[in-house]
Amino acid sequence: MANCAIVGINWGDEGKGRMVDLLTEKYDVVVRYQGGGNAGHTVVNDRGKFALHLLPSGIFREGVVNVLGNGVALDCENLWTELKDVRSKGVEVTPEALKISERASLLLPWHRELDALEETRLKDKKFGSTRQGIAPFYADKYQKKTILAGELFYPDRLKVHLTDLLEWKNLTLRQVYGAKGYSIEELLDWFGTYGEKIKPYVCDAAAFLRDAAEKGKRILFEAQLGALRDLDYGIHPYTTSSNALASYAPVGSGLPSAKIDTVVGVVKAYSTCVGEGPFVCEWFGERAERLRSAGAEYGAKTGRPRRVGPIDLPATRYGVRVQGATTLALTKLDVLGYMEEIPVCARYRIRGRETEEFPFPALLDEAEPVEEVLEGWQCDVSGVRTWKDLPQAARKYVEYLETALGCPIGYVSVGPERDAIILR
Ligand code: GDP
Repeated sequence: MANCAIVGINWGDEGKGRMVDLLTEKYDVVVRYQGGGNAGHTVVNDRGKFALHLLPSGIFREGVVNVLGNGVALDCENLWTELKDVRSKGVEVTPEALKISERASLLLPWHRELDALEETRLKDKKFGSTRQGIAPFYADKYQKKTILAGELFYPDRLKVHLTDLLEWKNLTLRQVYGAKGYSIEELLDWFGTYGEKIKPYVCDAAAFLRDAAEKGKRILFEAQLGALRDLDYGIHPYTTSSNALASYAPVGSGLPSAKIDTVVGVVKAYSTCVGEGPFVCEWFGERAERLRSAGAEYGAKTGRPRRVGPIDLPATRYGVRVQGATTLALTKLDVLGYMEEIPVCARYRIRGRETEEFPFPALLDEAEPVEEVLEGWQCDVSGVRTWKDLPQAARKYVEYLETALGCPIGYVSVGPERDAIILR
């Protein structure tokens, strides 16, 4: 279990942060390799309750080195807010404990603004962006029109580079969206405030990782969002703008030759989805409200109520496959304790035919869920810590999922706290 990736199998919010927080005990290094501060990982441990956005979930363990790799959208402003927040709760993050890749691109104020302007332009056709600037950021990165974190060490060069980018970006802001645009003074001010705060953490993180790997250190790669939001393999165009797959971890971390030995796919015992786009298994009305409130399904970043439904087997099986999961962590099993019967979305019906396969995104709008039910256990399992102590119906549900998903379930989580876990 030398190198391990912890990834989401579904739409995100599966409880990855909770699993990373648990498993970091066995690891020396935790790396975030994609995405930005647009989603949240909730971690509950002996130091309190935290909503992390960009910081790796290993920051709570003494001795663990956390890395923000070249693949992340480095939002200095949000990261600084987050660092201040954890510090106010007693968690000091030193440059020894957090290393930011000099090759990470910086998310700038105009990315956030463009995100909001475009969502406003789209009106009712909006994608449900969190307006954190992620899509404009990655678009610019692929156009090679971003500033790298390492440029903070070369202020003269940074100013020239920024002036060039500004001229180009103001064209879009002003002439496409009718916005005010930015002046170089405003941007240099921003860099003076936030860039300087982050600079002590910026280093050659790739060299650090290479060295750590050569010394046999155990490295944990932490993903954001889930397989169905992956830019290439997710539900296009309702994806995020980066690759949330385990296979991207080596590239986005700074250790491109890394071999991932274990892929822990995190699956929620039911389905949730934030934002727009097809969500075939979706429930509405009273039964949705009941599940949402039982699972406290409100976004960690936005507070938005999450869309909910039963576990979606075609989508989850697809997620397991594209993530190449070697073991699964099933979270929030405790939430289903109120149900007499546990519904699952076993198949989709598309144009009159039933299928267990997850279809091409264009067909998802036409897909209808076909539900089956399993026996419920109707009790609180949040205090259970061993497999044999789980009610038989709960064990049957876990075993049913294992067979249906074609992957062993190595962990069953029954609460948000670090120790609320059943190891199998
Ligand atoms: P992430 O982005 O994948 O880390 O997930 P989020 O943090 O957005 O959402 C998971 C939520 O479920 C958090 O509020 C966790 O504290 C909570 N959670 C995680 N595992 C469990 C569990 O087994 N039971 C319950 N009741 N809550 C859990």
